Amino acid sequence: MAVKNPYSFFLSVEKSFDKAAKFTNWDAGILNQIKECNSVYQMRFPIKRDNGSIEVIEAYRVQHSQHKSPCKGGVRFSSEVNQDEVMALASLMTYKCAIVNVPFGGAKGGIKINPRNYSPYELEKITRRYTSELIKKNFIGPGIDVPAPDYGTGEREMSWMLDTYQSMRPGEVDSEGCVTGKPVTQGGVEGRREATGLGVFFGIREVCNIPEVMQKLGLSTGIEGKSVVVQGLGNVGYFCTKFFREHGAKVVGLAEMEGAIFNEAGLNEEEVFQHRKKTGSILNFPGATNLVNSAAGLELDCDILIPAALENVINEENASRIKAKIIGEAANGPCTPEADEIFIEKGILCVPDMYLNAGGVTVSYFEWLKNLSHVRYGRLEKRFTENLNTHILEQIEGLTGKRVNEKERKLIKHGPDEIDLVYSGLEETMISATKEIIEIWHNNPSIPDLRTAAYVNAINKVSRSYVELGIFP
Ligand code: NAD
Repeated sequence: MAVKNPYSFFLSVEKSFDKAAKFTNWDAGILNQIKECNSVYQMRFPIKRDNGSIEVIEAYRVQHSQHKSPCKGGVRFSSEVNQDEVMALASLMTYKCAIVNVPFGGAKGGIKINPRNYSPYELEKITRRYTSELIKKNFIGPGIDVPAPDYGTGEREMSWMLDTYQSMRPGEVDSEGCVTGKPVTQGGVEGRREATGLGVFFGIREVCNIPEVMQKLGLSTGIEGKSVVVQGLGNVGYFCTKFFREHGAKVVGLAEMEGAIFNEAGLNEEEVFQHRKKTGSILNFPGATNLVNSAAGLELDCDILIPAALENVINEENASRIKAKIIGEAANGPCTPEADEIFIEKGILCVPDMYLNAGGVTVSYFEWLKNLSHVRYGRLEKRFTENLNTHILEQIEGLTGKRVNEKERKLIKHGPDEIDLVYSGLEETMISATKEIIEIWHNNPSIPDLRTAAYVNAINKVSRSYVELGIFP
C-alpha cells in the first residue's frame, strides 16, 4: 500500500501565517479571508504526443488574492505539481508582493509534467493549450493575472504564452504585459533572468551588514570570506552562486538531484554548469569531493546555506543536522514550520523565502511597467543625464582648475541604461524590505524569528488594504 505523504505545503503556509497573526490586531474574519485562495482553477486537457498517442494533462492556476490587481505568479512544470502546492505558492506570492511593495495580488500556476520527458514541440503544445485554457476562463491578461517563469520554465515558455495570448486577443494594445520573464527581444526587461538570484544576494548582504545580528550568530559582518552552500543549480541557484562568488564569498558546496560536490577552495558556477552539461552529472567535478547523497549537501559545514530547488527539503527530520548559521531561502518553502522551531532553538537565522526571493517578482513588476509604457527604461533620460553630468563636471573643473581622471570621468558622465535602473530598483527594494522586517522584529522581542516578522509585515499591509477598500457589496 502506498504511504500517503502527510506533508501539506499549504498547511505549512497557514501555520506560519497563524503564528504571525497573533502579533497583529486585525479582525479574525479579515485574517480568515486573507488566508483563503480566492479562485482555484483545476484543468485537464489532452495533447497529442509525437508518437500519435493522446495524453491527458493535469494543470492549475490559483489566484490567492485580488486585493491588488493584476494577480502575479510563476508557472511551474514539475511531475510533483498538485493543487495543495500551487495554492501554497499562490499564497506566498501575495505576502511576497506586499512585503516588497509590488502592487499585485498573489497567484501561481502549475502543469504536472516532467519537462525532460517531452520534446520541445510537445512542450510548446502543452504551454499553448494551457494558455488558451486560461484565456477562455479569463485567468490571464495584463490587468487580470500575469504569469512568469518558475521551476522548470523560462523565457522560451513565456514567449509561447505571449504569442498564444496575442493570437487570441488581437489588437489589445497592452498585451505584452500578459506575462513577464520574456526574452528582452519580446518585451522582456534587462536583468529579469538573474533577478531572483541577485535579490537573494542583496537580501543576505543586507542582513550580513547588521552588526547586532552577526554578533549573535558569531559571524563577522559582510559577505566577503563567508562560506556558502547552494542547493539547485537552476536559474535561481546559478545566479545566487555567481553573485556570492563575485562579491568575495566562497561557494564551497553545490547540490543537484544526482548528488553534491564540495571544495573548500570554492567552486565556479559556470564551470560546474558546463561540466554537468557535458557529463550529465554534477559529480566528479575536477578538484571537488563527491557526496552521492544529494541531501547530505545541505548538512555541509558553511556560514550560509541557500536552498534554491524545491519545498520541504529541510524539515523536522534533518533540521537538527544543519550546520550553517544563516539559511537563505531562495526556493519557495524549503524549510517547514517544524524546521523553523529547531532553528530558533539552535540559534540559526533563517531568512524567509517570501522576502528573500522577491527579486523575481520585483523585476517582473518593472517588466510589466515597461510593457504598459511601451518604452525601454533609460531611453528618454540617458543622453540628457550624460549631457548634464558633463556640463556639471566641466563647471567644477573650470572652477577648481583640476581635471578629473579618465576612469572617474567615465563614471560621473554615465547616463543610466535599462540594466542600471533595474539593478538599482531591485537593490533599493531589497534594502527597504530588509529594514522594514528587521524593524518589526526588533520592535517586538516576542516575535521569535524573521519569518514571523515578515508575515506580520505582509498581514498588516494586506489587511489594511481590505479594511480601506471595504467589503463588496
Ligand atoms: P529551475 O528549474 O531553473 O532550477 C531548479 C534546479 O533544482 C534544477 O537544476 C533541478 O535539477 C534542481 N533540483 C531539483 N530537485 C533537487 C534536489 N532534490 N536537490 C538538488 N537539486 C534539485 O527552477 P528555478 O526557477 O531556479 O526555481 C527554483 C526555486 O526558486 C523554486 O522553489 C521556485 O519556486 C523558486 N523561485 C523561482 C523564481 C524565478 O524567478 N525563477 C522566483 C522566486 C522563487
